[in-house]
Amino acid sequence: MADVHSNLEALEAVLEDFEEKGEIWCLGDVVGYGPNPNECIATLNHRGLQHGTTEKSTESQRLVRYCVAGNHDLGVLGKLELDWFNAFAVEAIEITRKIIEKKHRNFLVSLPKFLKLGEAILVHGSPRDPIFEYLSETHQAELNFEAFQEKICFCGHSHYPVVFEKDDDVVRKIVPYFQKKIKLKKGCRYLINPGSVGQPRDGDNRASYGVFDDQKLTFEFRRVPYPIGKTQEKMRKLGLPGFLIQRLALGR
Ligand code: ZN
Repeated sequence: MADVHSNLEALEAVLEDFEEKGEIWCLGDVVGYGPNPNECIATLNHRGLQHGTTEKSTESQRLVRYCVAGNHDLGVLGKLELDWFNAFAVEAIEITRKIIEKKHRNFLVSLPKFLKLGEAILVHGSPRDPIFEYLSETHQAELNFEAFQEKICFCGHSHYPVVFEKDDDVVRKIVPYFQKKIKLKKGCRYLINPGSVGQPRDGDNRASYGVFDDQKLTFEFRRVPYPIGKTQEKMRKLGLPGFLIQRLALGR
């Protein structure tokens, strides 16, 4: 999953929908935009441990292993200049800074920019620019396949679900088919964005995420409705910008 953006209702709907036993891999931007940074981090921590691997590790160690940092996470920490963000994002970051609790802020501090998990890597933006690049066009994907060696790179940031497939020298953009498994071919490599949980922008206002089966080598996009009005109401109470409140319903 990617780009939860402090949207607890969307996160809970996704976790409810995800019935398989498996790990949760989080591609950054847990916070920013939405009203519930603390609750989202706490929920991810809790579920992350439930679905943990066999080895015993502390809460922070385990999470460092499965979640990478996004630009909004770094913005909240003051590790990125706010000039990088638009005015609406800056307002949300400033409100997030006021309400985030220390232990949850420490979670953000612990996040790496890049993770390798077997034949997959996780980044927020793209393999060649893990924090900033919006990877949406095929020519960008061609260049990014040169920036990693593993079979698959999972990324977020653009809030658009997409799969790029590289077969020898040809890169194809695969339109996401929801609720239908995409077979990942043996000789191919992939760049995969599961879309955004907390602020979808592809015209579909349902929360977006994906399920990767590393045994059968399949990937499935999923969409889940959630009570958008409830999230919007909380945003209004916190004084978050109207534009951010309205766009949740539009999915844009
Ligand atoms: Zn984002």
